[in-house]
Amino acid sequence: MAVGEFDLIAKYFARPVRHAVLGGGDDCALLQPTPGMQWAVSTDALVEGRHFLSTVPPDALGHKSLAVNLSDLAACGARPVAFTLSLTLPRVDETFLAGFAQGLYALADAHGIELVGGDTTAGPLNIGITVMGEVPPGQALRRGGAKAGDELWVSGRLGDARLALEAFRGQASLRGEAFEDVRRAMERPQPRVALGIALRGIASAAIDLSDGLVGDLGHVLRASAVGATLRLADIPHGPHVAACGEAQRRTCLLAGGDDYELLFAAPAAAHAQVRDAGARAGVPVTRIGTLDTAPGLRVVDAHGAQLTLTERAFDHFIPD
Ligand code: ADP
Ligand code: MG
Repeated sequence: MAVGEFDLIAKYFARPVRHAVLGGGDDCALLQPTPGMQWAVSTDALVEGRHFLSTVPPDALGHKSLAVNLSDLAACGARPVAFTLSLTLPRVDETFLAGFAQGLYALADAHGIELVGGDTTAGPLNIGITVMGEVPPGQALRRGGAKAGDELWVSGRLGDARLALEAFRGQASLRGEAFEDVRRAMERPQPRVALGIALRGIASAAIDLSDGLVGDLGHVLRASAVGATLRLADIPHGPHVAACGEAQRRTCLLAGGDDYELLFAAPAAAHAQVRDAGARAGVPVTRIGTLDTAPGLRVVDAHGAQLTLTERAFDHFIPD
């Protein structure tokens, strides 16, 4: 018997809610905000062939679809509360749906966020998620707010997801464990929610890294009206990126994209507090540069010599 729109919603996306006043099944979900808190709301769509490869396992796709959205809440220092899911499916493929729902709910449960509704239609595979989180008034981390003299930090390590993409495209050869390592970074990014919350009141500005370090840092610099000096050698990376040739390593680190780490600024006086926030969140944090009064971005090598910058941000409407 054919599985229809409402059957598949009922089977895969109608788990009872625990916190929302009303979840899916009616015309609207109903949410009760915690008194005195502000909502932080963000949307991200994932399109096959653009944001993910058709080879991605369904559970990894469920994970990543929510992860990239949670990463935006993390960048604002918001605590995840609820999300909606807009699904466009070419056909009802129950193996796909079961895997997708499993990956989605596993990450949702890990972050205490619940699905409260959505929309389901037929068409080219497309996943749109809207996340809602809470943050105390005035404490959201913003892109503006960084000051000249602040230190520039990044969480985790960069470049692995880009290296996986290069391997899938046949532009890097990685075998066995090495390939699985970078593939995990690309398909299962870990949104830095705990770190974002721990940085409330400490970071002067923050953004999550989705389109590459150079491009995303550029957003912070423009919003904060400052410049920056970035030390290439200090950008944290793993053994597989370290093993690349120089040009590929630079691409992975500066223009990588899909890292979903937090890039943030904090006053030099808060250096120890930043380290403590990283320790509390269980995420490594590394200082990679300084914010300057001189506008623009300078990338320097380990000796302080300025490098010529050719890397730029990924843009959906501007070809490489
Ligand atoms: P309406 O026509 O009133 O917009 P729909 O028929 O689109 O309602 O959806 C019926 C119910 O199922 C709604 O409560 C909606 O939130 C929920 N829903 C639809 N698709 C999804 C989905 N992919 N995940 C979770 N809930 C969904
Ligand atoms: Mg609808």
